[in-house]
Amino acid sequence: MALTIYNTLAREKQLFTPIDPKNVRMYVCGPTVYDYAHIGNARPVIVFDVLFRLLRHIYGEEHVTYVRNITDVEDKIIARAVERKVSIRDLTEGTAKIYQEDALALGCLAPTLEPRVTETMPEIVAMIERLVANNHAYVAEGHVLFHVPSDPDYGKLSRRSLDEMIAGARVEVAPYKKNPQDFILWKPSDENQPGWNSPWGWGRPGWHIECSAMGEKHLGEAFDIHGGGIDLQFPHHENEIAQSEGAHHGKPLANYWMHNGFLQVEGEKMSKSLGNFITIRELLAEKKFGGQQWHGKVLKLAMLSTHYRQPIDWTVDRLVQARSMLLDWSRVLHGAPQSDDLHNELLGALRDDLNTPGALAVLHGLWKGSHLSINDLRSLKRALNFLGVYEDEKQVDFAVGYEVLDVSKIENLIAERNAARKAKNFAEADRIRDELSTMKIAIEDGPSGTTWKVVS
Ligand SMILES: [Zn+2]
Repeated sequence: MALTIYNTLAREKQLFTPIDPKNVRMYVCGPTVYDYAHIGNARPVIVFDVLFRLLRHIYGEEHVTYVRNITDVEDKIIARAVERKVSIRDLTEGTAKIYQEDALALGCLAPTLEPRVTETMPEIVAMIERLVANNHAYVAEGHVLFHVPSDPDYGKLSRRSLDEMIAGARVEVAPYKKNPQDFILWKPSDENQPGWNSPWGWGRPGWHIECSAMGEKHLGEAFDIHGGGIDLQFPHHENEIAQSEGAHHGKPLANYWMHNGFLQVEGEKMSKSLGNFITIRELLAEKKFGGQQWHGKVLKLAMLSTHYRQPIDWTVDRLVQARSMLLDWSRVLHGAPQSDDLHNELLGALRDDLNTPGALAVLHGLWKGSHLSINDLRSLKRALNFLGVYEDEKQVDFAVGYEVLDVSKIENLIAERNAARKAKNFAEADRIRDELSTMKIAIEDGPSGTTWKVVS
């Protein structure tokens, strides 16, 4: 069965064909570690985690490499470190650790590699040197700039007009620029700013070149999938393409570009000034959003209920619904066996451009069937584990004080009740039916035996 993905570069859904099925490679832009990640930052983490899981399922775990970088050299970091009076290293290390913990709490696998800019400096300098040698970049007053007119394909990802690009990139006019669109590859640092030696003096790289160099170092000159939020499409991804393809004589950086949509909160753009800015950590650990704490897997399930390319409205209602779903499911799944195979229809939905709402509809179909059969149960459990929205290893704590039931107990009670009925001990049979009823289990006697379902 094929995998299709929507390729932003082509503006259409395409059949996914990896360069090397034995080494499928994906790069996703990671965080700039100067502050807690907000819930909008969680969206690409969750979306590309599901894609990572799907690729591992299709091509085999050892044949997929997922790189998600950590940007630990950037001007926002310098500003925040000064503001907080902490060292840059303390700020970036602490923030990166929180980000990794948040991603784990959201039920996301660790990427194969999480490279840092500070560990990639020789490769960054070498790539800039190649761009200068290829006449795609020039040196001016201690800066190195990418010369946009040197790349006739510039703009092919975002498909914007020159005017739109200049407006979108918030182009700064500087005397050393040959062209207003030219962007920074390297800039000088003063003694209070982090810096590295380079052929152009003591300085530091610009943000865009960092991703190009980390991608090249860990995934090679050309790889399969490059992902990130839609807000990164321009100028960041456009510039990554210009740099990498300029350094690699036009070889395409990535064959498939994927972008997740925007996130808003309760119908409004999330912003600190509107007071609806919400971090992953606040959702997980503080009673801020809807006055409640939320389990990471509830957050993940809520995120997956909208297709990744659509805008998502992050609401308390959405989280309440996701939690109630997980509570219903976990009541019967705890301790139950899971099937070896993934449900075919679920897999079909995910293979269709990561149609997670479609996948969840399949799960609802299993659940809403008039009576949940043991096979449905096994399929459901396998699917939830696959998506990383369920945990069996400990008592489920999607909500406080929740009592977990297990299926074998229900099955045993039904068997006992049937034995009692056979012995015409109807008082005992009724007692057991009542006991099941307090467990919110309804039973029905039919020609092929007794079936049961969970009632809410
Ligand atoms: Zn990037």
